Order: sequence, then structure tokens, then C-alpha cells
Amino acid sequence: MSVVLVGGGKGKGRSLAAGDVILKAEPFVYLLSGSLKGLYCDYCFKKSEGYGRLQRCSRCKGERYCGRECQVKAWQLIHRHECPCIKRVLPKAPPDTARLMAKIIIKLKNGGDQLVEEVTDGKTRKFKDLMNHYSDIKKDRARQEQLEALTVVLSDYLGPDTLPNTADLQGIFGRICVNSFSITDMDHNALGTGVYLAGSVFDHSCRPNAFVTFNGPTLTCRALQSFTDFDISKVRISYLDVMTSTEERVKELKRRYYFTCDCPGCHDPEMDRLASSVVCGIKGCDGPVYIDENLPPSEPLPPCTKCGCQSPVTHTRTEYLTAAGYCREQLEECKDQYFLDIAQRGLERQGDNLFHPMNLLRVRLLDAATEAAISLSNWNLALQYGIQNIPALRLYYGERHPNVGMTLLKLGKIMLYLQQQQEALEYLTEAEGILNTSHGNTHPLYTTQLAPLITQAREELTANKKHNNRHYNSPHFSLVR
Ligand SMILES: [Zn+2]
Ligand SMILES: [Zn+2]
Ligand SMILES: [Zn+2]
Ligand SMILES: [Zn+2]
Repeated sequence: MSVVLVGGGKGKGRSLAAGDVILKAEPFVYLLSGSLKGLYCDYCFKKSEGYGRLQRCSRCKGERYCGRECQVKAWQLIHRHECPCIKRVLPKAPPDTARLMAKIIIKLKNGGDQLVEEVTDGKTRKFKDLMNHYSDIKKDRARQEQLEALTVVLSDYLGPDTLPNTADLQGIFGRICVNSFSITDMDHNALGTGVYLAGSVFDHSCRPNAFVTFNGPTLTCRALQSFTDFDISKVRISYLDVMTSTEERVKELKRRYYFTCDCPGCHDPEMDRLASSVVCGIKGCDGPVYIDENLPPSEPLPPCTKCGCQSPVTHTRTEYLTAAGYCREQLEECKDQYFLDIAQRGLERQGDNLFHPMNLLRVRLLDAATEAAISLSNWNLALQYGIQNIPALRLYYGERHPNVGMTLLKLGKIMLYLQQQQEALEYLTEAEGILNTSHGNTHPLYTTQLAPLITQAREELTANKKHNNRHYNSPHFSLVR
């Protein structure tokens, strides 16, 4: 049993406070992303102190570990079975999904099929209990093509005799498709993929009441709000980034997970209107005017939500549609990597007073611009964009969502660097309130980043005060005054 249940231990019916651990679990199988090989330990996901500093498995030369201890543990866990496979296909390296599937096949053959994990009292899960969406995936052409390609690779990698029959392969593949977690580091960057037995019990909501974090490959799910009469079936995490329109989320959840989301966030027409709105502008009003992109350009605009005036500007619809199209192109280019000039081009095209501050195209471009500015160490610009966007992040994620906390932490860190200690302390303290709930105060994000920054901000503030007081109280200053 690899699951520890914490937080009262009574399971159903107990009450939980925000920040309490709902579940802590080790993966059934997991894998470091192929693109990060050599940069992180394949077993514990610890970052290497430099390229080439990890110890390679002497047999396959494929896996790399931070030390002897991780190597031994990995060997016992699964590597003794996969090492000959890696060696067999050298110098080729199978794609990540093939390697993850292979790990599952190996694990199932070596007792993994009997492994039972307790979710909450009376409720257990085996690998075969994970949803596989068999018929959905069977009908999904893109996924069937992927599975066919994977089967060829796996037959090579595992040897044709080890390969399960087609139906079993389809079942394993389906379970990976809908149950995999992206394992992230403390900055929420993806490090790898994991399949968790008990961890796969949580359903999705675009307004989640729980959050999953990782420390190495260990998954921890914490409550973002309090639960009275706790029932695990009421826990909802978010499967995707919710800073998207309802239409986009519905499409993506259907495409990737084969279900139609029915959460409160998907039934919030007011939010949907805000996400696609321009600024009213009549007599300086900053209220939102909804632009329905499906209506013809000649259609008059609806009244402003704030002042109620019927906006007479009919050309705004065309103006908006052109700018929105342009912004979508820029966002598309920033999909995998943020580019400051591209994000700025989109923001410039929006002008100063056309897009409402809560318009999603504006919010996402500002977010991209903030991240790009950070990556270029352009601190002032990062602050300018980032601070502007905080109200929107609070709206889309919810006040207490860890993504809001992460942004406050980043901005606070920059402020501290720029010697704006008072503001930094405010941002960091608020980040602490949020992240202590989602991550807990033993998570490295807290112990190695947030806590030291708060201490630094406090110390610098005290030092400044002392410094100022000394000058203020000095006879010299008194004389001058
Ligand atoms: Zn390690
Ligand atoms: Zn090896
Ligand atoms: Zn939803
Ligand atoms: Zn108005």
C-alpha cells in the first residue's frame, strides 16, 4: 500500500479545513520528460547541479541518478526490468508515452495488477479500476493512430512476447490518456508524467475545491476550502488551466477526457460576457460592453453593464473583431514559449481603451508579457504587466487559487530585488496566505523560496528603519531642520 491518508483519518463524514491534506500518494508509474533527461534525477526528480553531474546506469547508459541511493531504489522499483529494453533499442530512445506504457506493462506483469490502494475508508483502487474510456478512444482517430505507432515501438522495446494483446494495450493506453498527471516542479513547470491509483479518483471542476502539488513524484492533494461532512466524491481538482473561455474548456475537456463539464464555472453567462467585452467609454464609464463574436458586424451593441447606456458605437464591433483576431494569432505564437515582442504587439493592437481589463484576450496577453519580461530579466516591465493583471487572475482563478499566489510570489520577489521592500512584503505575505493552503508549509516552495523571501523583506525593512531613524535623530539632521 503506497498511500498515506492524513487529515483526521476517519474518511467520510469528517470535517476538513482549507489546507488540510486530502490524499498523499506515490505514483503507480512515473517518468521524467525525455527533454529533461540529464538535467534531473530519473528517480527523485532532483535538479542536477550541472549537466553531466548525474550518475548514469552503467548497463543501459540511459537513466541518470543524483546518487547511489536513488540508483539502487530505481533498480529495485522498476529499472531492473526496463534496463534491458532500453539497451535493446539503443541508440534509439522510445517516446515518453511508449516508455510510460512499457513501465505499466512491466509493473502489471510483476504484481502491479494486484496492487490495491486505499482512497478513503472502504474505497480502494487497482489499476484496472481506472477509467479507460475504451469506446471513446476506439472511435478517436487521432488516438488510434497514436496507439498503432506506439504498438510498433513497444513491440521493439519490450520484445514481441512481452507485448499484451490488442485489447489490453488499448485499455492501458486509454487509462494513460485520461488519468495521467503532469508532475510539476515548485514553479509549476512540467517535469514528467505520472499515473496514480488513488490520485486518479478526483473529478474535474473549472472551479476546483482542491489542488494537487508535487514534491518529486509524490502527489499531495489539499483542500482549497473547508469541507464539513467530507466525502471524497465531492473533491474537485482542475484538469486544465481555467484561464480560458467556457467554450475553449468544454472543447478541450471533451477532446482530452471525453466528458462535458457541468460545473458552476461552465454555467456563468456573466463571466462569459466579461471575457469578451470592450470598455463602454461613454462619459468616462469603465463598464464592460459584451461583444458576441457570432453576431454580424452591423448588429448594435448591447447596453453597458455598469451605466446601462445603449452604446451608439456600431463600428466598435468590427474594430474589436479585427483586433481580437490579431490577438489570437499572437497568443498562438506564444503557445509554447512566451515572446515579449509578440505579446506586446497584441497589447498595442488592443489600444488603451478598447478591450476591457477582464477581457480574456487582454488577460492572457498580459500574462504572456509578464512571463516573457521575467525570462528576459526586464523586472520593471514584468511588474508593470503583472500588477495590472492581478485583479483578472483573481477573477478567473478565484481569490484563493495557488496560481494567484504564485504570481504574487513572483512579483513580490521582483519588488524585493528592486528594493521596494514594503510592497514586496505585502505581496509575499498575501502569497503566503494562499500557498500555505495549497502547498502547506513543509513544501519546498515555502521552505526554500517564500519563507526566506519574507524574512529578507522584514529584515531589510527593519534595517532601513534603523538606518533612517539614525539619520533622523542625528544632531546633524536636527540642526539642519
Ligand atoms: Zn535522486
Ligand atoms: Zn539501466
Ligand atoms: Zn466546468
Ligand atoms: Zn457604461
